[in-house]
Parts: sequence; C-alpha cells; structure tokens
Amino acid sequence: MSTMPAAFVGHGSPMNTLEYNRYTDAWSTFANSFEKPAAILAISAHWYINATAVTSMARPRVIHDFYGFAQELFDFDYPVLGDQLLAQHVADLVDPTWVGLDDETWGIDHGTWSILAHMYPDADVPVVQLAIDASKPLEYHIDLGARLAPLRDEGVLILGSGNVVHNLRAIEWRAENQGFEWAQRFDDDTRSVLMSDPSQLGQLTQSDDYRLAVPTPDHFLPLAYLAGLASVGATSPSTFAEGCTMGSLSMTSYAI
Ligand code: ZN
Repeated sequence: MSTMPAAFVGHGSPMNTLEYNRYTDAWSTFANSFEKPAAILAISAHWYINATAVTSMARPRVIHDFYGFAQELFDFDYPVLGDQLLAQHVADLVDPTWVGLDDETWGIDHGTWSILAHMYPDADVPVVQLAIDASKPLEYHIDLGARLAPLRDEGVLILGSGNVVHNLRAIEWRAENQGFEWAQRFDDDTRSVLMSDPSQLGQLTQSDDYRLAVPTPDHFLPLAYLAGLASVGATSPSTFAEGCTMGSLSMTSYAI
C-alpha cells in the first residue's frame, strides 16, 4: 500500500456541508486524487478538551455541535463506522503519551463531517477522531503529529480540520471571498513558514496578526499535526485551496 497523503482543511461555516463552492469542489477533487484510505484519523477543531483521546466506538454518533443554522444541517446524517483497532493502535503508537479511549462521550463532529460529506459522500471510510488537548502547548501537537507518521504507510488518511484564520467576533457576513488585510497577511505568513520549515510553526505566534487570527487556538492547532507530519518526511505542504472569506476566516487547505 502506498503512502497516504495527510491534509489540513479549512472548514469554515457548517453550511459548507450542504453547499457546493470552490472550496468544497477542492475537497472532493483532492479526495479523488488518491486511492481510498483504509480509515481516517480526523483532528477537528471542535473536539477541544483537557485530554488527549481518540473515539473508540464501533458506530460514532453524528454530533450537531452548533446552533442557529438551518434545520437541514441538524438533520444531516453521516452514518460512518468507527475503527476500534485504529483507536487502540494510535494509543500504542504514541506511548508513553497517554491517550484516552472514548467509547461514549464524543463521535463525529461537524468539523469532520462537513468536509467528509464532500470527500467521501457515501460515508464508506471508517473514522476515528483525535481530540485536541487544550492543556498542551503548540509544540506538543507538532510532536504528536510527527509520531503519527507511520499510520500513513498503513493506509490511514490523517485529516486536520480547522482554519488558519478564525475570528468569529470580526466576521463580516457580506465580505464573501474576502479577507481583512491582517487575515490575508497571516494566511500568507503561515504558508511561507509551512513551505520553508513546517517545524517552525511556532514562529507565527508572536505577532499581532496571530492574536487577531487565532483568538483561541482550537481552529489553528489541527494545522500543527500536518506541520509535524511534514517535518518528519522533510516535505513541504502544498495548498489545494486558498483564500479568506467573511473577512476573518481562512479557507486555505494544505496537503503533503
Ligand atoms: Zn469550526
């Protein structure tokens, strides 16, 4: 089995689940560019807790973790299987880092299913989610990402879902397909670091732009996993979608 790509996808609004636009087109085109994975390990911005954990249920429930959106989104189902062997394997792989096996709390949240609805609309690839440990610094997530690298040779697609720029307080609903100057600049700076030395992602955290683009780390940290994976393989991520929307969201997506 050939080495699977790994990716970080800018997921944006939950509405992207049901819409078709240039970003969702890029997600499905990306998925069609390589063989179907045996399983997916998804790292979503929306499972942000004080522990490192993986979902380990046979049939993860579909979590509608938002409010104020159309009823059809609350009705959306993504009846995918879990993968208990993969969950245990992840825990073994990163030992001695402790990984909790969650068989009842979480499931598949919209950070994951909004993208997979376009990548694998038939929900025919088993999914395990990895929680983002909110108590840990950026370097922990880069390192953990690097240690997941062997999964790529076992047919597992590692998929981060967040946004490089994610500031909901600054959102400008009418600014479709536009980013504020600081948002575009931070998106560009992030691309530069990832393409030159992904292990140095932490360089970005000292700027005023970072404070605006990343008011909370949840949507940025899934990118740290891709940065870690890229640093292991000494490969530069490339973008397969680029751009900001609504002023303060980046939809830029990367793959290795
Ligand atoms: Zn989100």
